[in-house]
Amino acid sequence: MHTSKNITSQQAIELEDKFGAHNYHPLPVVLKKGEGVHVWDVEGKKYYDFLSAYSAVNQGHCHPKIINAMSRQAETLTLTSRAFHNDMLGRFEEYITEYFKFDKVLPMNTGAEAVETAIKIARKWAYEVKGVDEKEAQIIVCENNFHGRTTTVISFSNDENARKNFGPFTPGFIKIPYDDTEALEKALEENDNIAGLLVEPIQGEAGVYTPADDYMKHARELCTKHNALFMADEIQTGIARTGSLLAVCGNCTCENRCEQQSTYSRPDILILGKALSGGAYPVSAVLADNHIMNVIKPGQHGSTFGGNPVAAAVGMAALEVVKDEHLAQNSRKLGELFRNELEKYIENSKIVKLVRGRGLLNAIVINDSEDSSTAWDICIALRDNGLLAKPTHGNIIRFAPPLVMNQEQLLDCVSIITRTLLTFEK
Ligand SMILES: *Cc1c(COP(=O)(O)O)cnc(C)c1O
Repeated sequence: MHTSKNITSQQAIELEDKFGAHNYHPLPVVLKKGEGVHVWDVEGKKYYDFLSAYSAVNQGHCHPKIINAMSRQAETLTLTSRAFHNDMLGRFEEYITEYFKFDKVLPMNTGAEAVETAIKIARKWAYEVKGVDEKEAQIIVCENNFHGRTTTVISFSNDENARKNFGPFTPGFIKIPYDDTEALEKALEENDNIAGLLVEPIQGEAGVYTPADDYMKHARELCTKHNALFMADEIQTGIARTGSLLAVCGNCTCENRCEQQSTYSRPDILILGKALSGGAYPVSAVLADNHIMNVIKPGQHGSTFGGNPVAAAVGMAALEVVKDEHLAQNSRKLGELFRNELEKYIENSKIVKLVRGRGLLNAIVINDSEDSSTAWDICIALRDNGLLAKPTHGNIIRFAPPLVMNQEQLLDCVSIITRTLLTFEK
C-alpha cells in the first residue's frame, strides 16, 4: 500500500483490524493531520483534541519550534548509541537539570522505561546507601496506579485486565490505598526495607483522581522521616499539565521550578515522559541528585536510543516552548474556567455527577453504572460534534486539551460539551 494514496476512515480501520494486534480499543476516528489544538480526519473533518495523546501533546500538535529542532537534527545526526558521545546529549542534560533543578538526569525513551529506571535506581540505592539486606528492598505503590505496561510495572497494578495471565510477577512491591497518609505512615513504620514510594501526584488513568492538597507534602515528609525515596511519576501530570510546571509544585504559579516555594514537595526521583517531547518523539527522563544517581555505574543500565541527538534536540525545544508560551499559567487559568463552567452545568444535570481535576487535566464522572456504555456513547456524540475525548475506567471521561488553547477556544469547547451532554439528559 502506498503511503501517499488517500484512504477512507473505513479502510484505515479495516487495515488495523486485520493486520494489527488488538491491544487497543480506539474511538472510531482516523486522523491524518494536527496543528495546535486541532486535528483533522481523513475525510477533512476538523476536531478539537481533548485528549492530547494522554498529555503528550501539551505544546499543541506539530509545534513549529519543536518540529524545526527535530528535522534539523534528523538531517544532521540521529543516533550514535551511548557507545560514543554526541554533541547534543550534554547540552540537553545541562538544560533539563537546570530547568528542574536536579544534579543529574538519566535519559530514556518511553514512560514505562523511565519508571523501570526509577525502580532500579531506588533498589540499588536501598542496598548500597541505606543498607537494606540483599533482595529485601520493597517499594511502596498505590492502589489504582498506572505506571506503564512492562512486566514489572504491571506486577504492582491492580487492573485485572492489565495483569491476567501475564504472571509470574516481579516481587518487592507493597500496595497501599491512594491519598491515605495514615496507610503510608503505617507501611513505612512496619518495614525497615523500604527503598521508596512510587506515586502519581494525580492519578490520571484511574480517572483524574485528585488527592487532598496536602497529600504530596505529607508523603514527602514521611519519606524523609523514614529514609525512603519519594519518587514522583509526573509522566502525565508534569510539564505544565496541571497548572504548574510539576504537579508536586502544589499551587505555585511561577514559571521556574522554584526551590523556595513552601508548596513544593521536592521528589528524590522525578520521572518525566510524554510532553517532554511535545508528542513529537519518544523522550523520557529520570532526574535525581548525585547522592542517588551516582549508584548507577557503567554497564548497569542503558538503552540504545536513550539520549539520542534527536531526542536531545526535541526535549530542549519542547521545554523551551513551555516557558516561552507560559503554558503553566494558561493551563491554570483555563482549567479554573473549565471546571467553573461545567459546575454550572452540573447543578441542573442528572447525567453528570461531578467534575474534578487541576489545571487542564480534568474529568467528569457520568451518573451511570461503571460497566454502562454511556461514557463511550457520549464520546461518540462529542466526536460527531467536533471534539475528541476518551472514556477512562468505565464511566469517567477525561478532558485534557493541548495547553496552547486560548480562552475563546475553550469556551467554544465547553459549549460543544454541554450541548452534547444535554442530549443525554433523560
Ligand atoms: C503514560 C504513563 C506512563 C507510561 O508511559 P509510556 O510512554 O506509555 O510507557 C507511566 N506513568 C504515567 C503516570 C503515565 O501517564
